Amino acid sequence: MRVLLVVLDGLGDCPHASLGGMTPLEAAHTPTLDSLARDGMCGVLDPVGVGVAPQSDSAHLAMLGYATQDHPGRGVLEALGVTGRDIPEGSLAFKCVFAHTDPSTALVHRRPLTEEGVSLPSRVGKPRERGKWDKKASSLACQDLCRVLNEATLTRDTRYSVKFTYDRDHRCVCVVENVLGEPGTLSSDISGTDPLYDGLPCLECTPTRTLSRHGVEDPTERAEHDTRLRTATLINDIHRRVQLQLAHSQYAPYINTVLFRAPSSPIKVDPFHVRNGYRLTAVCDTPVIAGVCRHIGVSTVVSQSHCWGSSACSLSTGLQHLVTPHTSPSPSSPASPSPSPSFPTPDQDPAVFVHIKDTDTVSHKQHVHGKKETLERIDTELSAALAVLSDPTWTDPGTPTAVIVTGDHSTPCAFGDHSNDTVPFLLSVVYGREREEGAAPSVPHPDLTPDSVSAFSEAACVSGCLGRVSGAQMQKLMGRLVNVY
Ligand SMILES: [Zn+2]
Repeated sequence: MRVLLVVLDGLGDCPHASLGGMTPLEAAHTPTLDSLARDGMCGVLDPVGVGVAPQSDSAHLAMLGYATQDHPGRGVLEALGVTGRDIPEGSLAFKCVFAHTDPSTALVHRRPLTEEGVSLPSRVGKPRERGKWDKKASSLACQDLCRVLNEATLTRDTRYSVKFTYDRDHRCVCVVENVLGEPGTLSSDISGTDPLYDGLPCLECTPTRTLSRHGVEDPTERAEHDTRLRTATLINDIHRRVQLQLAHSQYAPYINTVLFRAPSSPIKVDPFHVRNGYRLTAVCDTPVIAGVCRHIGVSTVVSQSHCWGSSACSLSTGLQHLVTPHTSPSPSSPASPSPSPSFPTPDQDPAVFVHIKDTDTVSHKQHVHGKKETLERIDTELSAALAVLSDPTWTDPGTPTAVIVTGDHSTPCAFGDHSNDTVPFLLSVVYGREREEGAAPSVPHPDLTPDSVSAFSEAACVSGCLGRVSGAQMQKLMGRLVNVY
């Protein structure tokens, strides 16, 4: 059986007064998701574990069959996703943001340019500024500053190179690499320089582990501690040189520092197909999720630039990797994905994972009606995708497709951040078959017993027959669908 896994980032939510006590998913008109839930099996998901409010990277790793110890750290995952290349062993990767340090107070604030192109006032002691800012001007400035920093000498130690790569908005990644390939000269057991909140000074990079009393006598522990100290000194020196460079740039009134956070070094893990017994293709345009996929050896199709942020494009790209037409589909059919001529003909994998970020983005903005509308739009786009999967001119009727829809965590709009609430989960099966106008694409699978859930929502899925599953259990279920059914 083929598998299409659709992860709606931050899908889960809580009842909201402005929606009459319903969640955005309950309030949204989602006939496609409801028909999939009715014909399939439902449950609720704790991606990482009960009571854990995960970040998307940890949640995706767990859902793709990996444990906490397989997580290399956020800096590496961001760098893998942003640079699109492997991070050399022994290197140190950081997730970074450009920011402004007030020269008179030495206090930091980020999101450096407002809509008028002037610096935001410092808000001492206040949490992160959520005001408007000029994305375009800031993005162009930050791209230019990455180039400036890469042309500068940021360390006098010739064993190391320092490379910045622009991400988006005011974000970038930094990779410090030992160019001689010497192992063990850099330690990730150090802190970043980002104070995380506005109105605080930059932090000094320091070791995050101290030498134990026993370690004083142990040459290995002493050597590791010396590496931590040397690495912290190196990063503080790079940070100072970055600030010196930025102080002379034309953007200095608005951007004069880079904050380093989430230091981490790459680690080796089993590739996805070895660990889970089948091959997966991913479609995602969020760097950290692309980084997760690269880390575990999942081939990633990043939607072309015109598709970025378009869930419809992500879904149709995913379908191109799951099914191909037996006969030429009607070009007038709105349901047919329209392959771009620049896309190579893909080798099909039995399973495709499509990541859609929009649901999390509106949730962080606490835009509850926006989340409802986003879910309604995705439901319509999913309907077009399922029409392809159930079209016998596209799909082999003998090979059904299991469609799984869930989220990587809940992001309640009232809270505006990730929570430990369970996430609704559905599994339904779609066949290529002739069907009546308006009929649901999914049908009950003879081997999979549908439950009594008739709508896709947080509350309805609680009574589904799949019960409460972890990310690891979800991955085992996917493996069984691909390899057994
Ligand atoms: Zn989020």
